[in-house]
Amino acid sequence: MQEKCIFCKIIEGKLPAEKIYEDESSLAFLDINPVNPGHCLVVSKEHFDNLLATPPSAAKRLTETVLKVSQAVREAVAAEGINININNGRAAGQVVFHTHIHIIPRYKGDGLKLWSGAAYRDANEMSALAEKIRQAIK
Ligand code: AMP
Ligand code: ZN
Repeated sequence: MQEKCIFCKIIEGKLPAEKIYEDESSLAFLDINPVNPGHCLVVSKEHFDNLLATPPSAAKRLTETVLKVSQAVREAVAAEGINININNGRAAGQVVFHTHIHIIPRYKGDGLKLWSGAAYRDANEMSALAEKIRQAIK
């Protein structure tokens, strides 16, 4: 039988976690290696590899938990801002392959740099790409 993933083990109570909130479809707990104190993860109780593999109905329920927990984190650590981040796929920095959403408290000048931005060659390249993505919407 395949070894359960680390977040499935937390959900089943087989590994410890500092739990913050739970309902029938989601669980929130402190990230063990926080960007800033109060950094939480919201995970789906059902195992999916990442958000793109998660059914929309389950993703909607996760979003409700993310909103609830984000408000509480902001209040508890007096965050000036909150990043809500989802890494999907190894190239995007995903390390644990179980749907999870990061709630990261932020402060002016805390030094976290998420991305630096790139540029399109020209407006045509941008329009062509927008059209390609529109065509791919299902
Ligand atoms: P990601 O790169 O999006 O896959 O993030 C995985 C996150 O899970 C990292 O921020 C880790 O610090 C966190 N993490 C890994 N193991 C545990 C654990 N046992 N308890 C809490 N957080 C964990
Ligand atoms: Zn899992």
